[in-house]
Amino acid sequence: MNNYNIKFSERFNNLGTETAFTVLAKANKLAEEGNSIINLGIGQPDFTTPEHIVEAAIKALKDGHHGYTQTSGIPKLREAVCKDIIRRHNVEINPDNVLIVPGGKVIIFFSAMLLGENGKEILYPNPGFPIYESAINFSQAKPVPYQLREDMGFSFSAEEILAKVNGKTSLIIINSPANPTGGVVPEMELTKLVEGLEKFPEVALMSDEIYDQFCFGSTNFKSMLTYPSISNRLIILNGWSKTYAMTGWRLGYGVFPPSLFELAEKLAVNVHSCVNTSAQFAALEALEGPQNCVKNMNDTFKRRAEIMSNELNKIEFISCQKPQGAFYCFPNIKKLGVSALELQNLLLENVGVASVAGTSFGVFGEGFLRFSCANSDSAIMEAMERVSEFIKNKFS
Ligand code: PLP
Repeated sequence: MNNYNIKFSERFNNLGTETAFTVLAKANKLAEEGNSIINLGIGQPDFTTPEHIVEAAIKALKDGHHGYTQTSGIPKLREAVCKDIIRRHNVEINPDNVLIVPGGKVIIFFSAMLLGENGKEILYPNPGFPIYESAINFSQAKPVPYQLREDMGFSFSAEEILAKVNGKTSLIIINSPANPTGGVVPEMELTKLVEGLEKFPEVALMSDEIYDQFCFGSTNFKSMLTYPSISNRLIILNGWSKTYAMTGWRLGYGVFPPSLFELAEKLAVNVHSCVNTSAQFAALEALEGPQNCVKNMNDTFKRRAEIMSNELNKIEFISCQKPQGAFYCFPNIKKLGVSALELQNLLLENVGVASVAGTSFGVFGEGFLRFSCANSDSAIMEAMERVSEFIKNKFS
């Protein structure tokens, strides 16, 4: 019996969650009960962290790096982030603007806390990573979704975003390559957005570039760091979770404009003091060591995304845009006449294929399912066969 009367803060009524974790728990339970489950629900690489990176963390522990570090991160790591940015985008960043954090997710929360409050509006992609909407709600700003368009390869329309900007808008969140759609926003659309923002100098931009090293070539990725005209109001979210298969290490970074950096660092002192020290040494090795592990993972995800989208397109009533990046397929299931959540549950319970309903990523995700490519080619083929058989039997 619940016999205590603690009243939690009202603001927690606004906090959302990430349903992918609920699907994972359900899939694991079914697997423990002896069912054959293929998990295409989870959004993390199915690779282990490369050995040289693991070794660097072990060495750091053996060398006695057991204490706190500077809140913003060890200086060598912040410098290495800047060198990596020069190497990949040819843009010079001051290490003083780089904040090392326990996971890219922290930057979403910090951005919402820094720029959101009652009376403000924050724009975010829908369907999109669910933590955007959750963090905006928690900040008490009004979440204003803009739609990612299937007929534009799941890009946004800059015109549509700009039409939603008004005097209350404090922040626009963008994400490319995108979770859950696998879309990459073309340079033309990014440029239009930047040009349009000239009229709104008080609006900040947070660009979530966590999947930037998983791009499949047809639409090239362009970092928002390459637009100098917005550098004084741009926050970049990036990290090691996806690029180096380090989701469980909890490592990410933000690049903040000088006007926001000190506040973000202050938030970090209040929340987590610093990132796990040995993990920071691993992160340093990840950036300074060989990069072929990143290329191998990108090639693998590219191949699997191709296999999966081809197989999905062979299934009656289903159509799937070819993903341009990240590691997800986001097929359109509208012709089946069931909701995304119904199909998610039917597939898991009847044929043991775990996916995530598009509605877990916002209202505009209705009519879509997210399948993750973070599983072997053979598991993907087997899962697609199961889905195909199920749909043939139930819907034809
Ligand atoms: N941004 C997007 C779009 C993501 O998909 C994720 C993780 O799934 C994150 C941020 C958070 O990454 P991290 O695990 O580094 O916190």
